[in-house]
Amino acid sequence: MNRPFGMLAELTYACPLHCPYCSNPLNLADYHEELTMAEWQRVLTEARALGVLQLHLSGGEPLQRRDLVELVASARELGLYTNLITSALGLSPRRAEQLKTAGLDHVQISIQADEPALSDRIAGTPSYGRKIAAVRLVKELGWPLTLNVVLHRHNIDRIGRILDLAEELGADRIELANTQYYGWAWHNRAALLPSRAQLDQAEAVVRTARQRLERKMQIIYVIPDYYSQYPKPCMGGWGQQQLTVTPNGDVLPCPAAHTLKLPRATVREHSLAWIWEESPLFQRFRGTEWMPEPCRICERREVDFGGCRCQAFQLTGDAARTDPVCHLSPDHRVVAEAVEAANAGAEPIAPGRLVPRTSTARRVETMEVYLPARKSRRFSHRYDACQDDKNSDYYSPTDSLESPGDVP
Ligand code: SF4
Ligand code: SF4
Repeated sequence: MNRPFGMLAELTYACPLHCPYCSNPLNLADYHEELTMAEWQRVLTEARALGVLQLHLSGGEPLQRRDLVELVASARELGLYTNLITSALGLSPRRAEQLKTAGLDHVQISIQADEPALSDRIAGTPSYGRKIAAVRLVKELGWPLTLNVVLHRHNIDRIGRILDLAEELGADRIELANTQYYGWAWHNRAALLPSRAQLDQAEAVVRTARQRLERKMQIIYVIPDYYSQYPKPCMGGWGQQQLTVTPNGDVLPCPAAHTLKLPRATVREHSLAWIWEESPLFQRFRGTEWMPEPCRICERREVDFGGCRCQAFQLTGDAARTDPVCHLSPDHRVVAEAVEAANAGAEPIAPGRLVPRTSTARRVETMEVYLPARKSRRFSHRYDACQDDKNSDYYSPTDSLESPGDVP
């Protein structure tokens, strides 16, 4: 059996931002009983013993954990490579110095767009200025810096200017990952899914930028898998390389797997080794034995592993079906219809109704945005009850124009 190489530690789902594509669960209130520092230290020790080398500290916003510096120091002592995935809100000069001293190895900062008004509107809170200040701080302290940008219908046309900003800020790497449609993004899919014309234009810009910036900045570009012929090899296979620990101690093969109707596995009841090796959750879709037709006889079955189990469940109600993104899937029409809808109409960017992530599952604030900025902008808030208590997802990219990447 493979050993896990990387662990995503979702330290808290608290976050000051309200991104409408957020991968956190919709039922955030169920995750308030967060692991203590002592519990996290035990989990890290067990993870290292299990073979984990890379620790990705994420959330929510991991800087909301006051004991983050202590956690980084513990990870460093265990020999783990630590990567902080953050919105950067809360990264004060003092906190940054402490994290540096504790041994933090790498920082990824998300930005929503290249200009303040749009960035703040997508984030649902004024944040652009603080993000840029934090980026400069990260560079000053000598960390390797990755910028994460989640792409969608409302910012993909600005990809050239986003790349210019990344170059100006001195990013070592930028991950331009199109939205994955689970959870909050699933609710907003009609407003977020770009058109084919937008994607074509973005890909041309990325190709040119890659040539120009070849020696300066690594550019990762992940296309939306709805436009792919084949699905992404989700997480490099179920229970093969990665695991996720949620704020309350649940362990998952991928960050979205809490959406599936499978037995729970938690570090509050079991060791990480038992969960990885023996739990029904990690066994369920490991390997190829579980596969249905057409995956069972397909030559790509050990390339993409039948695609994403969470997407299959999201789109068909059955996690054991072929990912409908695959053009060979009997359910592919559900993806084709969404793509057709995204390309219908003359307007390249239609008005969209976005549901921003909130911290309450009972009431979801809905906002209407009218973009692009060149046209008249309306920005209003309405309040609707959100009855959907299904969870959302995180993200597990793999399919890309030329290379894969990942994002919080
Ligand atoms: S996607 Fe946005 S709202 Fe969600 S955790 Fe990240 S920064 Fe916060
Ligand atoms: S049929 Fe299954 S294994 Fe083959 S390409 Fe499609 S999803 Fe992948």
